[in-house]
Amino acid sequence: MKAAVLHGAKDIRTETVPDPVCTPHGVIIKVNSCGVCGSDLHYYRHDGHDGTIFGHEFSGDIVEVGAAVKDITTGTRCTAVGFSPCEKCYWCHEGKKHRCSDMALLGYHFPGAMAEYVHVPFAAPGRSIFPIPQELTYEDAASVEPLSISYFSVNRSQPKENEIVAVIGLGVIGLYAVQVLKAAGVKQILAAGRRSSRLAAAEKCGADIVIDAALEDTVKVIMEASGNLGANTVFECAGTQETFDQSVVIARGGGKIMLVGIYEEPLTWQPLSVISKNLTLTGCLGGNFPAAIQLLKEGKVKTQNMITHRFSLDEAAEAFRTQDGDPSAIKVMIKP
Ligand SMILES: [Zn+2]
Ligand SMILES: [Zn+2]
Repeated sequence: MKAAVLHGAKDIRTETVPDPVCTPHGVIIKVNSCGVCGSDLHYYRHDGHDGTIFGHEFSGDIVEVGAAVKDITTGTRCTAVGFSPCEKCYWCHEGKKHRCSDMALLGYHFPGAMAEYVHVPFAAPGRSIFPIPQELTYEDAASVEPLSISYFSVNRSQPKENEIVAVIGLGVIGLYAVQVLKAAGVKQILAAGRRSSRLAAAEKCGADIVIDAALEDTVKVIMEASGNLGANTVFECAGTQETFDQSVVIARGGGKIMLVGIYEEPLTWQPLSVISKNLTLTGCLGGNFPAAIQLLKEGKVKTQNMITHRFSLDEAAEAFRTQDGDPSAIKVMIKP
């Protein structure tokens, strides 16, 4: 089959690789759509990951089912969480392999979905394989993974309708967080980002005030908009020193900061700034596929404003260049 293979920093080549073989507990999925993720770019930009086939945000049709797999049939349209449990940890021994604390991940530790076919080694309906309802397109289904991360973070904050919520950093996760907050009925959503394409998308996603952080002072705008009280909850989706510092300043006394963005560098911070305001810092890393699928099914979250570019599998190198360097790109999809 054809697959997009990483050969070194910023060197993706579409080439022929061996077809995946279905294991007893696995399934094989014929891939329809696969998103390029910001996490993929962290690997893509650096040497040392040769041979990686990316792709963990995907959808397709099941074409082969392992002998030991129950309740999954070929022909099912689905999206999936691809992981391989360690079989050694507490959770694996408890039979809760989907909670494995040392799982190998599809698209990083073993071949992902930027290929004609992908093997999901641990197939269980509702845990790793999620059939998609008719209302969802394949591209919607390939967006479930990033949306599920945004949903998880928003749900963790338990927002109330009358609160002022700020989203700092308008990558895909931040933009979906804006949509999920809107769907939750939050009346005052302030969103700060940098690229004009993403600022425009934030408005379409339902942000009430959109701040161009390249031109405006994010702190000043949010403090003014909140009568100098600050935001009840801040979603820090950028993962930088600057945005962390801003979050601490704009969070209202007793408020929450949800740490969502992935920090590439360690932070310098004065804990007193958090202590003195009685702030709660919450780390957010998790997903909820069923909730994300439901939001898409009900039309409360839409993928249209998010998917900006589509490429064939043969054009995978261009797809990565676009996601990495084209300021108009929000989510790039590869269509094998
Ligand atoms: Zn992702
Ligand atoms: Zn385990």
